[in-house]
Amino acid sequence: MKAHAYAAMSATTPLEPFQVERREVGAHDVLIEIDFCGVCHSDIHQARGEWGNSTFPMVPGHEIVGRVVKRGAKAARFTEKELVGVGCFVDSCRACSSCKKGVEQYCSGHVSFTYNGTEQDKTTPTYGGYSSHIVVDERYVVRVPAELDTKAVAPLLCAGITTYSPLKHWNVGRGQKVAVLGLGGLGHMGVKFAVAFGAEVTVISTSPSKEADAKRLGAHHFLLLSDAQQVAEAAERFDFLLDTVSGPHDLNVALGLLRLDGHMVLVGVPPEAPQVHAFSLIPRRRSLAGSMIGGIKETQEMLDFCAEKGIVADVEVIRLSQINEAYSRMIAGDVRYRFVVDLKGR
Ligand code: NAP
Ligand code: ZN
Repeated sequence: MKAHAYAAMSATTPLEPFQVERREVGAHDVLIEIDFCGVCHSDIHQARGEWGNSTFPMVPGHEIVGRVVKRGAKAARFTEKELVGVGCFVDSCRACSSCKKGVEQYCSGHVSFTYNGTEQDKTTPTYGGYSSHIVVDERYVVRVPAELDTKAVAPLLCAGITTYSPLKHWNVGRGQKVAVLGLGGLGHMGVKFAVAFGAEVTVISTSPSKEADAKRLGAHHFLLLSDAQQVAEAAERFDFLLDTVSGPHDLNVALGLLRLDGHMVLVGVPPEAPQVHAFSLIPRRRSLAGSMIGGIKETQEMLDFCAEKGIVADVEVIRLSQINEAYSRMIAGDVRYRFVVDLKGR
């Protein structure tokens, strides 16, 4: 079937209307009519070729929430009209140790990313959620709790799981001082989760105007990154620091805020490779690590946790035709805190 979409045709042109031919619904597939799709900074990095791995035409979007409108003969996990979600990948090799452990995002075979990727044949391009419909193998689809605000759930499929997963993996919780660097789409979800897990949370930001928001989101403290005195006073303060920043910044400054044996985890992916001095790590036995989204099982666990705690993203709803303006506003830091495209509101 033909799906109405928006695509980047090159790294230097604005996104424009585009038709995607979605595959026939296979035995294990579901056809999803998309209600909402969040706008992640990864969409901008890739649509603009900032990571150097872009293929065009590209239909971005990996924070997808919609309803099952058709099921394959053997697709039995979901019912017709059920509210479901699709995140950053739509398939994986299913055979490697990562896939077997349920951390398919670290598949050592081939991850089929939701867009700017290929299916398991490594040839057929994938197209993402800035579109009216998508066909996905039900194994890579999660159940969306109906009690949550649908539009505000969409960002959980990437921004949510990307921050939930490392906080869980590094056992962040009560009694710990946690910093979230960068208060954007990922950052604001990181704050909500770290607070929900019982940590004492500090937002570290370049934007003084976000201090009130940080507190409203549950953060206990706010640190302005450009204020050298505040940064100096926070030296060796944190057990754990989650770096969600999308642009160039000095990792050595952030590492200096960790105490003995503290962990700093990168989830933000600025296009430029950072420089880290060994002395930023060695004298306090600090660790620097990275983390990528989360597996299907953990994504479902995160959504169920959000339903239990009433956690969703703070969103501003736009139409698909406003996507280029939304990109400009995100780069200018003018969104509180996630744009979500209403695919039915076109
Ligand atoms: P976003 O909404 O644009 O937020 C990024 C925030 O970073 C901004 O709000 C700003 O926060 C801060 N920032 C931006 N440029 C900066 C600079 N040069 N120096 C210091 N701070 C800066 O982006 P997002 O959607 O949250 O994505 C953040 C990053 O995570 C992107 O690089 C994205 O590609 C990556 N990502 C990674 C994964 C993963 O699996 N690891 C998943 C999704 C996204 P303040 O105003 O508070 O300073
Ligand atoms: Zn994303």
